[in-house]
This record gives sequence, structure tokens and C-alpha cells, in this order.
Amino acid sequence: MKLVKILLCLFCMSISAKSFAQQDTSCNKIRKIYDGMYFMYFDSSNSKSTIIEFSDFLFLLEAPIIDLGGGAKELKDDIAGGEKILRTLKANFPNKPLKYFAHSHWHPHSISSVSPFLNNNVSLITTEENFKVIKTFADSNVISKNAEKIIFVPGDSLRIADSFNEVIIYRFDQKNFPSTPTKDYLYCYFPKYNCMHAACMYTKWMGEPVDGKQLLSGREENLYNFLKLRNIKPDFLIRLSHEKKEDNDMQPYEGLQNVNLNGIKSADIMDKYLSISSGVLKNTRDEIIRVAINKNIPTSIFNSCVYTELRKKEFERALDFAIIQAQVNPSDPNSWDTLGEVYYFLGEYAIAKNYLKHKKKMFPEVSTGGEEVWQKDLENFQKVWDKNK
Ligand SMILES: [Zn+2]
Repeated sequence: MKLVKILLCLFCMSISAKSFAQQDTSCNKIRKIYDGMYFMYFDSSNSKSTIIEFSDFLFLLEAPIIDLGGGAKELKDDIAGGEKILRTLKANFPNKPLKYFAHSHWHPHSISSVSPFLNNNVSLITTEENFKVIKTFADSNVISKNAEKIIFVPGDSLRIADSFNEVIIYRFDQKNFPSTPTKDYLYCYFPKYNCMHAACMYTKWMGEPVDGKQLLSGREENLYNFLKLRNIKPDFLIRLSHEKKEDNDMQPYEGLQNVNLNGIKSADIMDKYLSISSGVLKNTRDEIIRVAINKNIPTSIFNSCVYTELRKKEFERALDFAIIQAQVNPSDPNSWDTLGEVYYFLGEYAIAKNYLKHKKKMFPEVSTGGEEVWQKDLENFQKVWDKNK
């Protein structure tokens, strides 16, 4: 009996030694930017978290364990990734517990993990609309057990401060800033460093200048207007992605100001194309293509023109824009998918399927678009057309 007990003991020891050996002890990388402000980097993503140090605790902004935006399907709570963040903070700041975890919006490049934080006595700072999405992928038991740790930013701002540091979180709605990718969103301002965290609301045009100018995105316009409205002129803006050209991994404010004052708006370019009469669009298509290539007009603009025309049931105009898009950028699989979709709407199924077949041959790794999506789009457009009857 005694021998059995000893053997059992040895067996248990070997199991616990084995599981101990398998335990992940790896950490993310941390870089100090200023005294009390750090960035955390992930092997699994190109996005970063920001850490603010207070006298007795830490504040974490974003958990971008994976790098996906609004197109993310199958959202999930990355428990191991969240635990790795907590482990990294513990290893680097052994005497300061993480008290707050805030995120700007629900995209995985902002919040890929929830439960490990709530289970470790960390308060989650969020918004009601974003939390509705979080509830779809985070463990409902963990959420209900920790309901008092979920802080919705009340009204339009929330301030956390002590004698060493300060964070001001601003909440705003898509209704007031229409290019916001989620129904509501949080910016985070750090007065001590005069830095503003904007995440994916600061999406810069990285391509060649368009018609000799920088392209101004709706999000850049919204961000700039927000800062002016709030009378904030930060030295630097923090985006999610790594800044390859900036030593401190932040964007100087002047870049945002410059594109807002001197840039060219995609919406304005699009309006110009949409105002071309149908006759001119059809008869001078080659000229339109030539000018678009010379001026570096992004094909996303033609793609948007296609769907604007489809919404108005202007199939022929949609087809002209889809042909222009495909001719200006034939190396974009979406060009062929869009062209196929317009033919599908026109009831030209053989032509539509032919484009799909060739798209698959040219871009076998691309699985977006296709007949199912077209059919769904068609049903959605049908509702719009019925409404506008
Ligand atoms: Zn985003």
C-alpha cells in the first residue's frame, strides 16, 4: 500500500513537473517612450498597446493581440494572449497592479481579449455600443460575475488622475463623426505628454499623392475636427500600427493638420466622377481611365462609385465605373469581383461567373466576394429600391 502511495506521488510529481515545463512564460516587448508612458508590442500583430504609469497602478490602452479591423469574422476572446499581457506587465512593473484596461472600439486590433483582465481584478473601460459586441464573444459568466468592473464612459469624457499622471478619455458617436468605424469610440488624451491616442481613427493614405496632393480620409477629417472642437493641439498622435519613419513611434500633429489643410478629399473626387453625365462616361471612358492613371486616382473611389450607382439602380453607369476600376487596377482581385457583381445585377450570369472564374485563377488565395455575397447584396439593394419606389 505504501509503495502504491509512493508511486502515485511520483506519478503526480512528474505530471505537475511536465505541466510546469509546458507553462508559457513568454512576454511581449515593452518600450519606454517617456517617464511613465510605454508601448507594448506583440509578435502576433502589427498594432501596439499604450501603458500609462500612475503612482500606485497601471492603465493599459488596447489589447491588439491580433491585427484585424471591422472586417473581422468569428470574434473570440484570446485568453492566452490576454494572460501574456498581464504577465508582461507583472514582469516589468512588479510593484504596480494593472487597475484599468481601456479600449477605443470593438475591433480585434483594439480588444482581442477580455476575460483575463476581468478575472484579475482589472476594470474594463468601454462604451455601451462597443460592449454589445464584446458580449457576443466574451464568456458571459465572467462578465456577469464582474459586472461592477465594467465602466462605461459617462457622457462625453472620463478623467483618471493622481499626482503623477493623468488620462482623459473622450467618448464620441458615429452620428457626429460619420467616418467612425463603430457606433461609438474612445480617444484617449495624455496631458502630461501632450499625446492623443487615436488608434484606427487616424488612418493615413500611404500611397502615391493623388493629383499631386495627399489624400484626406474621412477619419482624418473627423479626428482633426474633434481636436479643434475640444481645443486640443497634441504634439503627437498615437496610431495602432508601428510608425516606420518616426523614432518615437508616434505621428507629429503637423502631418494631420497638413493633410486637412492641403489634402484632397476622396469624397470630393468621387462627387466629381458621379457628376459626369452618362453619355460622357460611356463615350470618353478611355480618356477617363488615362487621366485616372496619370493622377493616381485610387481605385477604391471607382469601387465606391459602382455601389453608389447600384444603390440608385443605375446599372449602366455602375458597369462603366466597374470597367474603369478594372482597367485602372487589374491587379486588385476586388476589381474583378465588383465587375462580376455588376453583371450579376444585370442578370448576365455567364459573364459574371466568367469573371469570378478568372479572379479565382489569378488570385487563388482570395476568398472574399463571389456569388453568395452578390446575392446578399442584391437582396439588400432590393430593399433600398423598394423603399425608394
Ligand atoms: Zn479599428
